[in-house]
Amino acid sequence: MRGNPDSHELIGFNSLPQVLAQLSAAPGQWTPIAGGTELMVAHAAGRLNAPKLINLWGLPELDFVGVSDNSIAIGGGVTFSQIRNEAAIAEHFPLLSKAAGWIGSIANQSRATIAGNIVNGSPAADAPPALLVYDAEIELISERGARRIPYADFHLGYKRSILQPDELVLALHVPRRFADHRQYLRKVGTRKAMAITKVALAATAKLQNNVIAEIRLAAASVADRPVRLLATEATLLGQPLNASTSQAARKALLAEVHPIDDIRSTAEYRKQVAVNLLDEFLRQLAQEGPTA
Ligand SMILES: Cc1cc2nc3c(=O)[nH]c(=O)nc-3n(C[C@H](O)[C@H](O)[C@H](O)COP(=O)(O)OP(=O)(O)OC[C@H]3O[C@@H](n4cnc5c(N)ncnc54)[C@H](O)[C@@H]3O)c2cc1C
Repeated sequence: MRGNPDSHELIGFNSLPQVLAQLSAAPGQWTPIAGGTELMVAHAAGRLNAPKLINLWGLPELDFVGVSDNSIAIGGGVTFSQIRNEAAIAEHFPLLSKAAGWIGSIANQSRATIAGNIVNGSPAADAPPALLVYDAEIELISERGARRIPYADFHLGYKRSILQPDELVLALHVPRRFADHRQYLRKVGTRKAMAITKVALAATAKLQNNVIAEIRLAAASVADRPVRLLATEATLLGQPLNASTSQAARKALLAEVHPIDDIRSTAEYRKQVAVNLLDEFLRQLAQEGPTA
C-alpha cells in the first residue's frame, strides 16, 4: 500500500548546527533525509517507518569538495552527479567516478548523495567498494563534536553501522596516494544501466619486479555489508604474480566471501563471479606490468 504523506512530518533548517541541535534534543526520533532516493521509494511503497524527517538537502556545510595536498574531502551531501563532474576526483580516484556513473539513472545521480548511499547500508551499494580500496576515512558529526574513523570500520552488519542517532555523516576523506597504483572496478548486473549489483569488485595494487608490493580488494554483494577482502589480500601481498599465487588467491576468496541467495542471484553464482573478477583483475595487473 502507498505511504500516506499525512503520517509523516518534515522539518528543515538553514544550517548544520540547527539540525545537529534538533537531533541531539531528541536522539533517534528524527530521520535525516538528503536526496530521498532511498527514503522516498520506501515511502511510496508504504514501508517508511520514520514519522519524523529532518531535511539535509541543500545544507551548505555538507555540500563541498575540498582538495588539499594530501587528500580530497567530499561532503556527505555531495551528489553522484557532482562526483562525476569533479575533475580532481576523476584524476585521483577514477574508481569513485566510475561508480558514481553507475548509480541508477542521470536523474537519480542528481539527487543521490554519497552519505545516503553509505548510511543506507546496502551490501550492493556502488560507492563503498571504491571507498574501501582507497582507504577512505569517514567523518561523523554531532553536537558532541566530530570524529573521524576508517570507513572500513563503519559498517557493523546488514544495515547496521556505528552511526549514532544524533550523528550525521559530515564528509569522506580520501588520501591522494593511489596515482601510482593499478586500479580496477567492475560491477556485474543484469543490464549495463539501472541494475542493482549482483557482484562488484574493486582493487588497487602496486607491482614491483613482478612482486605484489601493495594490494587492496573490496567487494559488494558478497557479505552482509560492503567488505575489504583481507584474507585474499594476505595471500597476494609480497608474492610473485604467477599461476600458483592466483590459485591461492582464488581459494582464499572462496573461503572469505559469504554471499546470499536472493531474487537477483544464487550464492554459488555470486561466488563464481567474484572469482572471475579477481582473475580478470590479476590478468590485467600482469598485462599492465610494474608500477613506477
Ligand atoms: C531508481 C533507483 C536506482 C538506484 N540505483 C542505484 C545503484 O545503481 N547503485 C546504488 O548504489 N544505489 C542505487 N540506488 C539507491 C540510492 O539512489 C542511493 O543509495 C543514494 O546514494 C541514496 O542517497 P540519498 O541522498 O537519496 O539518500 P536518502 O534516501 O535521503 O537517505 C538514505 C539513508 O541515508 C541517511 N542519510 C542521508 N544523508 C545522511 C547524512 N549526511 N548523515 C547521516 N545519515 C544520512 C538517511 O537517514 C537514510 O537512512 C537507486 C535508487 C533508485 C530510486
